[in-house]
Amino acid sequence: MRSIDDLDVGGRRVLVRVDFNVPLGEDAQGRLRVADDTRIRAALPTIEELRGRGARLVLVSHLGRPHGRREERLSLAPVADTLRELTGARVTLAPAVVGEQVRALAEQLRDGEILLLENVRFEAGEERNDPELARALAELADVYVDDAFGAAHRAHASNEGIAHLLPNAGGRLLEREVSTLNGILENPAPPLVAIVGGAKVADKIAVIDRFLELADVLIIGGAMCFPFLAAQGHAVGDSLCSGEDSEHARRALAKAAGRREDGGGYARLELPVDLVIGERLAGDAEHRVLDGLDVPDGWMGLDIGPATAERYSREIARAGTVFWNGPMGAFELAPFAQGTLAVAEAVAQAKGLTVVGGGDSAAALARFGLDGDVDHLSTGGGATLELVEGHQLPGVQALDGAGVAR
Ligand code: ADP
Ligand code: MG
Repeated sequence: MRSIDDLDVGGRRVLVRVDFNVPLGEDAQGRLRVADDTRIRAALPTIEELRGRGARLVLVSHLGRPHGRREERLSLAPVADTLRELTGARVTLAPAVVGEQVRALAEQLRDGEILLLENVRFEAGEERNDPELARALAELADVYVDDAFGAAHRAHASNEGIAHLLPNAGGRLLEREVSTLNGILENPAPPLVAIVGGAKVADKIAVIDRFLELADVLIIGGAMCFPFLAAQGHAVGDSLCSGEDSEHARRALAKAAGRREDGGGYARLELPVDLVIGERLAGDAEHRVLDGLDVPDGWMGLDIGPATAERYSREIARAGTVFWNGPMGAFELAPFAQGTLAVAEAVAQAKGLTVVGGGDSAAALARFGLDGDVDHLSTGGGATLELVEGHQLPGVQALDGAGVAR
């Protein structure tokens, strides 16, 4: 993958694929506004550097899931407003993704100006990686830059397809995401402590498997722990725990107990020693600390307990490298937020390199005001997990730098 340092961009049109898939909300007048501009700000280093070098920018992003049809509520108009405020640049919102009018607007761009295309998922060809759409996008620019790490696990027309048609490079955000995540997987400062929580084992079993191989300590929290506890013979009550997930967990436990082919050991697997249980998944539900691991009937495990939080925090403090994905409990509800808060504070204070991935984990850090206290807060959800699982990301693979037309 080449970097934007290798591209000649002055006075040229540069199409940048960004991830502006931001949450929207209504203001007092009922107008749609960007509710959280984190992803837009994450793309600013690339945008500002290219503008500073005299590039004429054509930006393309998806927003939500319009499934190939124009949907006014998913227009990028609110994003254009925020982008104008953040950059002070002249920002034009195109009336569509591609077509004659859009081409004319692209040709009128002057150095440092921005043309924001409409939501690329208004086009049915985007998710199908239709070569016609890729070609129509490529005709808008001379050079292609991919800075949409959050979309890199998809092979769509605006990232994979177009990369084959223009000279290309990875933007600053994409570069930083890939090098940081590959760095902790390939060459972590030991010990590598991985913390995996959240809601579903099935979605993250491959992540658990990879960290059994790579990490020194693998900490399990959130609803992830119940399939493991069930596999160890504990009662889980009404906690989130499917039979299939317990089977995944049983296999992971067996693996952790064994030796690798090269004679080395797997990660030490850390499970909770106590829990916070509630009668329902609600903020006003009856709840208490369970000093043990057998959840009574009619109750569900909704957070790790205080003794567990302390043990996990000690492991994190000793780490050379920390990777955290998935909250320790139902942190959105105050009675079940303590475990996630303790882990978030431990990660924020850790001396080792700290990397956090996952939308809800990032939301938890932000809620606690600790999002500025980690070394790398990944902007990818699915893309981050796929990279951690050891998969190639199609959006990144397509950035061969060559740019010869197919
Ligand atoms: P991320 O987005 O960081 O990858 P996930 O999407 O896997 O995380 O999981 C986050 C969700 O898991 C949160 O909404 C949280 O409420 C929920 N969760 C965590 N622990 C539990 C639990 N014990 N019971 C029910 N839900 C839980
Ligand atoms: Mg999530």
